[in-house]
Amino acid sequence: MNVEDLNAWLARYQSFGLVRLPGALEATFAREEREPQRRIGLVGVSLGTLYFLLLMVLDWDIDRDLFWTSFVLRLGIAIPINCSMIWILLDPERRAATYQAAASIAAGMACVTFSILFAQSYKLAALTYLSANIIVMGFTINLLGLSTLASAIVCGVSLSSMLTAVTLSPISNGAVVTTYALVGAMVAFTSILANHCLQNERRRNYATMLREEIHLEQIARQQAMMEKLAAIDPLTQIANRRGFDAQLDDALAHSIHGNLSVAMIDIDYFKRFNDTYGHPKGDEVLCSVALCLSQACGSLALVGRMGGEEFAIAAVDMRMEAFHPLAERLCRAVEALGITHRNNDAAPVVTVSMGLASGSAVDRRACRALFQAADEALYEAKTSGRNRIVASTDHGQATPEVRLPAVIQPSLEH
Ligand code: GH3
Ligand code: MG
Ligand code: MG
Repeated sequence: MNVEDLNAWLARYQSFGLVRLPGALEATFAREEREPQRRIGLVGVSLGTLYFLLLMVLDWDIDRDLFWTSFVLRLGIAIPINCSMIWILLDPERRAATYQAAASIAAGMACVTFSILFAQSYKLAALTYLSANIIVMGFTINLLGLSTLASAIVCGVSLSSMLTAVTLSPISNGAVVTTYALVGAMVAFTSILANHCLQNERRRNYATMLREEIHLEQIARQQAMMEKLAAIDPLTQIANRRGFDAQLDDALAHSIHGNLSVAMIDIDYFKRFNDTYGHPKGDEVLCSVALCLSQACGSLALVGRMGGEEFAIAAVDMRMEAFHPLAERLCRAVEALGITHRNNDAAPVVTVSMGLASGSAVDRRACRALFQAADEALYEAKTSGRNRIVASTDHGQATPEVRLPAVIQPSLEH
């Protein structure tokens, strides 16, 4: 089920029609409604039974001659039956139909009791029992959580028992029968219609909520994808500055001793490469260098493209003694790609220069200082001939450069 299907269903929805949710959703809705309906039924029947018991005080005022009949009917039959229904409604493991039947029987019991009492009374005040019957019909709309069918059955029982009582009553006449038949029918019809609309509205709300849930899930998925895309460099498919910073923050948060080694890497004479072989070839080189760096780093260090032809490497919990050999391997690996660069003064192939720095990265400031130092070391590497590594052990102070032997011969012609 998707948002479009639900929208189409909601557009067709009419509260007076016979509404069924689309496809398998109706069965899911029925399953999910079972427990709330049980709880509503439990509260409704318990409350109704309590009223039914309390209203016994009125029996004394309405017709004292009938008080004991009422006492026996209420306490001897109706209340025990209703208590059994409450007991059924207390069990959360039963079927939805069982709950509906239990609530309907409880309501029906009250109606039949009222009708019997009215049929036997010679007092005009006994008409109160007919009003009580009508109240029970209203009660069935929502306080019992009944389905439309169960609601119609309760109204039918109430109406027929009321009409039988009115017909049999010694105080009744044609006008009373007509009045109660009419009022009873109107209340029954309104109750059933209201219950039907209520059930439909519950389905509509369910579909609307489901649509919103699916919509929110879609938005969350899209947001996650956007965030992922925003962190990746579209050309080289490695982390961009934003992604690199985020990964570094995360790695530092899980760091053991907060030591960080970083390298700023820059392709040598890359402008000349573009000028000689064209921009598209330059793009290919950027991709090859990015792939080479990430493969050579593996899980040892994070790699990111900082912009243009500049890359950065960061290794958390790695000291310079281990980081320097790694940087050398990276330099050699790029050179070993053997991408011809005839205008590179440092070697006949594409090469990189690196500036390294290592130290404690307790906070963002310390981290920035390390990158600053690596950047300055990179500048040193560039000015002192390129295709080399310069390490800065103390921020800003570069150590003697490491010159890499240009042993690789060009193998890829452009
Ligand atoms: P140096 O050895 O001093 O680093 O010289 P360089 O030519 O590499 O440095 P410079 O900063 O002068 O030029 C960088 C070049 O990188 C200029 C630009 O054309 C190229 N460049 C930057 N981004 C891209 C890109 O996305 N694709 C391609 N093909 N070239 C790029
Ligand atoms: Mg540059
Ligand atoms: Mg460059």
